[in-house]
Amino acid sequence: MPEKVVIIGSGPAGWTAAIYAARANLQPVVYEGTTTMPGMIPLGQLAYTTEVENFPTWPHTDSEALVHFSKSALPPEKYANIAHLYEGKSAHKGKRSATGPELMEWSRQQARNFGTRIVEQVIARVDFSKHPFVLYPADDAGVEQPPVEALTVIVATGARANYLGLPSEDRFKNNGVSACAVCDGALPRFRNKPLVVVGGGDSAMEEATYLSKFSSEVHLVHRRDAFRASKIMQERVLQNPRIKPQFNRTLAEVLGTDDDGVTGARLDSTTGGAPLELPVSGVFLAIGHTPNTDFLKGQLEMETTGYLKWTKPQRTNTSVDGVFAAGDVADSYYKQAITAAGTGCMAALDAERWLSHHGLI
Ligand code: NAP
Repeated sequence: MPEKVVIIGSGPAGWTAAIYAARANLQPVVYEGTTTMPGMIPLGQLAYTTEVENFPTWPHTDSEALVHFSKSALPPEKYANIAHLYEGKSAHKGKRSATGPELMEWSRQQARNFGTRIVEQVIARVDFSKHPFVLYPADDAGVEQPPVEALTVIVATGARANYLGLPSEDRFKNNGVSACAVCDGALPRFRNKPLVVVGGGDSAMEEATYLSKFSSEVHLVHRRDAFRASKIMQERVLQNPRIKPQFNRTLAEVLGTDDDGVTGARLDSTTGGAPLELPVSGVFLAIGHTPNTDFLKGQLEMETTGYLKWTKPQRTNTSVDGVFAAGDVADSYYKQAITAAGTGCMAALDAERWLSHHGLI
């Protein structure tokens, strides 16, 4: 029997689609990704985020209240995934908003509570040329699993962090170069040392602010003379004495040795000034994202940037009838957790109506 709805991806779009589809009695299956496949990690990009202040429902509250909530809402093995937020050295103290990992664990559980089935695999390739659609899962070692048939598919695979593509950046990945401050920022090699963050958007502001708690100084390198980020995030950065904006500069080379990893960064000027060499122990990239659509090439229409095309105004339809897209994978413009959740809801409703219209439910 083909599945009624298969959801690929497990960020806010995927879980919201699952909650709606499950409550509509469609018994959705979520392929939530694996930790070994870049860009297809369980819980999506929010798994790498600190406090989320702009997702309605979680104003600042005492961290203890969130501990109690997680303990009560989650099974022990899922509580264990976020226990470091509550216990030990990296525990959050005092009043705060809920973090990305908490929001996603709670959303996952909410979807599960209504009967969503969750598979810890990726979808490696698809065949949308026939109906039911055929999906080919793969496990965390990349080994292809038996195919799955689906009457409708919701693609919610999100986007992944970009790198500049410098050979020196590649050489020092995981040895001082990172695209995730939240994952790596607390490592000993970055503590009380100067760092570079590249980018001018909200991610760069967030990473610089976060890293300023651990490092001695953060050089925030931006290629223009003004940040793109929201005003509130910019102000936080500009008022932070440990963050030094380096406007009109680009990262030309990451400096270092194989033994020590990153020891410096050479910055070029975009306005004809002299290059600047900074002694730093880490370089964090925060220069936007690429949608996770490689496995859909030739199957669904995409923009030249790889983002999926929504083919009907105000709907989540893609170029293949019965396949819907939700969240950042089709949205290069808003890219917010709340908009991803919104389009996840829309995709589930679109899938339900499509199934009903075709007499399949
Ligand atoms: P973004 O808004 O697209 O910003 C990317 C930044 O990187 C831009 O400043 C861009 O410069 C720069 N950049 C891109 N390519 C570059 C290159 N090759 N060399 C040097 N610089 C380069 O991406 P984002 O900051 O990841 O944010 C994505 C979305 O998530 C946004 O909608 C943002 O609002 C949202 N977000 C929200 C929060 C929050 O509210 N808590 C946190 C993080 C992200 P230019 O400005 O010159 O183009």
